[in-house]
Amino acid sequence: MISSKIQQIKNELPQGVELVAVSKFHTPEQIMEAYSAGQRLFGENRPQELAQKVPILPKDIKWHFLGHLQKNKIKLVVPNAYLIQSIDTEELLWAVDRYAAANKIKTRCLLEVHIANEETKQGFSSSEVISLLERLKTKPLASTIICGVMGMASFTSDAEQVRSEFSRIAELYKKIKASYSTFFPEFNILSIGMSGDYKLGVEQGSTMVRIGTGIFGPREYV
Ligand SMILES: *Cc1c(COP(=O)(O)O)cnc(C)c1O
Repeated sequence: MISSKIQQIKNELPQGVELVAVSKFHTPEQIMEAYSAGQRLFGENRPQELAQKVPILPKDIKWHFLGHLQKNKIKLVVPNAYLIQSIDTEELLWAVDRYAAANKIKTRCLLEVHIANEETKQGFSSSEVISLLERLKTKPLASTIICGVMGMASFTSDAEQVRSEFSRIAELYKKIKASYSTFFPEFNILSIGMSGDYKLGVEQGSTMVRIGTGIFGPREYV
């Protein structure tokens, strides 16, 4: 049952840790079941799917975009996403900002940090994040708010490995909050933890977990 899974996970999360129900590949009916249980944050990773779901589902849902974003799909995501969690290059950030400014939309973004021991995952290194924020101090974004960082740990059952990957992004998050809060006052989100590792994410200071399988069951990739 989707609603009982949500209740169970919410009961386990400490106060201040938000739950994003990752609904990619799941139907509007399944999303409504979660919605009826009080869930309001949902995550999608394909621009087209996001753009199709948004108009047919309740307006008070806050949609999060979590997937790799190609520049030609920005127009599907910026108007629909409350938070884009997966900004993985500076070029993409500026392209999102230009689109948002031209369309008079305020966009909220997280910078995706590469923490996994896997080539396939995207994102900035910690030092790239710092140098990007330095550049943004002198050349601010027009229409984009940087709200934090997101990371995906290696896909492994080795808890020590995941813990050390999460602790690295948590250190980066704390450092940014300590040194850049004047320039980025809304930098408040450390998005770490998925179905298989959210407890480790919470242990390392996560403020937002992203859970799909643990709520909706396995995805059927079509
Ligand atoms: C799919 C996805 C999730 C959810 O994964 P589960 O293992 O099903 O919980 C979380 N974050 C991102 C970025 C994803 O793409």
